[in-house]
Amino acid sequence: MLFLSRHPAPCALDRSPGGINAAKNYRNDGDSIFRLFKDTVKGGDFRAREANVYRLAQISLNIIDQCVAQGVPFAREYGGFLDTRSFGGVQVQRTFYARGQTGQQLLLGAYQALEEQVAAGTVTMHIRRELLDVVIVNGRARGIVTRDLVTGQLECHAADVIVLATGGYSNVFYLSTNAKASNCTAIWRAHRRGALFGNPCFTQIHPTCIPLSSEHQSKLTLMSESLRNDGRVWVPKKKGETRAANDIPENERDYYLERRYPSFGNLVPRDVASRNAKEVCDEGRGVGPRGQGVYLDFADAIHRLGLETVRDKYGNLFDIYERITGENAYTVPMRIYPAPHYTMGGLWVDYHLMSTIPGLFVGGEANFSDHGANRLGASALMQGLADGYFILPYTVPDYIASIALDPVDVSLPPFTAAKAEVKSRFEALIAVKGKRSPDSFHRELGEIIWDNCGMARSDAGLRKALARIPELREEFWRNLRVVGGDDELNQTLEKANRVSDFLEIAELMCVDALHRTESCGCHFRVESQTPEGEAKRDDANFSYTAAWGWKGSGQAPALHKEPLTFEYVPLSQRSYK
Ligand SMILES: Cc1cc2nc3c(=O)[nH]c(=O)nc-3n(C[C@H](O)[C@H](O)[C@H](O)COP(=O)(O)OP(=O)(O)OC[C@H]3O[C@@H](n4cnc5c(N)ncnc54)[C@H](O)[C@@H]3O)c2cc1C
Repeated sequence: MLFLSRHPAPCALDRSPGGINAAKNYRNDGDSIFRLFKDTVKGGDFRAREANVYRLAQISLNIIDQCVAQGVPFAREYGGFLDTRSFGGVQVQRTFYARGQTGQQLLLGAYQALEEQVAAGTVTMHIRRELLDVVIVNGRARGIVTRDLVTGQLECHAADVIVLATGGYSNVFYLSTNAKASNCTAIWRAHRRGALFGNPCFTQIHPTCIPLSSEHQSKLTLMSESLRNDGRVWVPKKKGETRAANDIPENERDYYLERRYPSFGNLVPRDVASRNAKEVCDEGRGVGPRGQGVYLDFADAIHRLGLETVRDKYGNLFDIYERITGENAYTVPMRIYPAPHYTMGGLWVDYHLMSTIPGLFVGGEANFSDHGANRLGASALMQGLADGYFILPYTVPDYIASIALDPVDVSLPPFTAAKAEVKSRFEALIAVKGKRSPDSFHRELGEIIWDNCGMARSDAGLRKALARIPELREEFWRNLRVVGGDDELNQTLEKANRVSDFLEIAELMCVDALHRTESCGCHFRVESQTPEGEAKRDDANFSYTAAWGWKGSGQAPALHKEPLTFEYVPLSQRSYK
């Protein structure tokens, strides 16, 4: 059985324009499985399991073949070979793409194959259902509770195995590049039922997004990282510059990424690019109405490659940019700024992608597995497709074959109890009858997390957030207003439930960020930096995955440490200079 919130689903995959990595070495530029493995371990700042990353690099080759066989129209070169381009943190061209619609095309390929199985009767689809709880019978995950988003009916479903592929939790920041419907409820409810949560504070802020233009905005838009292949990032040298970009002469521009990181230049990894953008804006050299932006300039690329080539490569991204900002990026530089985008943290899984609840498997962004403290561009799709096409199809049957599962049905007490709990939670949300909308709580939570657990984290800031979040949660349960009932289509109620979970996961993110006093990848503790202002790891004390266990509302979570050892990529300070 397959449960989908929507069909076709509005998900991160659908929105991924950039591409998907594979160590095919079609360019003959020195790529290999080992090189992809090494880049990914290093890119994640040595906070991922080596064995998982190696498997990912191996499988990357099969993914492209699988997708081509499914009919995904990857871009091709004149000679007919699949084309590739570069993404941040690497010096080879290993990213396969379908113009600016890679994710959407991958999704269409997957849907075609899925529909074939639906027609063959091997898959039953339940559409517009939201998973609200996992049911545990005799210590194993044996079912779920869902809500029909159209009728509001709660339903129980029994199964031998549950696979969660419900995406990341970047929407905890309120403003993010994720689809508005993305949320943490499925993984958070599983966590509350006993699944450990890995590295919750590892969240990625993507450097290449359209800057916020108004405080009433509810969504941020990604401009694919692929643009940094040809676009040059700069800000004016002078603070408080008021001239238009094209009026600022070359010698008064600071191409700060090229200056600071000559070997990787504009293609440094995301954490490095984001922190540098924040730094120049904090210095007062940011551009645009709010001073929170840097230029991404294509003038050189247009001069070098010609307008038509640039249009061919990135045309639809330029169109999106123009529709949102009203500016033509072929004639004036784009303005970009970092935005919450991806969560490396997620439910802890073993090598078979099984969580600490037997029978509960987790794939894609919902698990914590392969990216360590920072994900390299175009590797989320690689991981999600590796999990879904090549790992779970082996590990799930292996689990089923290795144990004798008792038959279960939804009349058993664990099912009725879980359903009753969900019902009373929804009734409680409606019963508050306060004055504030779910959105206003969400927005305020997002500001707290962005300010204190975003691009830079400090001991004082995290403690402030940890004091403020429980107060906001208390106010939520006292002053929330949800109109309508729970047995009908009610999007305010859906939203309120998701916000109630964000209010809990946000606290765990801050607890994790506070305990990890080192900097690594996207987790930048201001107290732990090198003299050049780069993230400074503390391998002696923090070379582990932090897996947190739920101990109850208002109770401190329990920390479990999975040590990380590096046999093939020796630990070293990351350098992109
Ligand atoms: C704008 C954008 C661009 C990106 N570009 C790239 C790129 O170019 N290359 C790359 O490698 N990666 C990219 N990424 C990252 C990548 O797209 C995601 O990490 C990946 O799609 C995650 O896939 P997923 O299937 O795990 O989760 P998702 O794609 O988020 O899908 C999860 C699905 O589960 C549903 N769901 C959530 N909760 C529930 C619930 N309780 N009950 C039922 N359903 C639920 C959601 O509605 C959604 O449909 C991008 C991400 C974004 C946001």
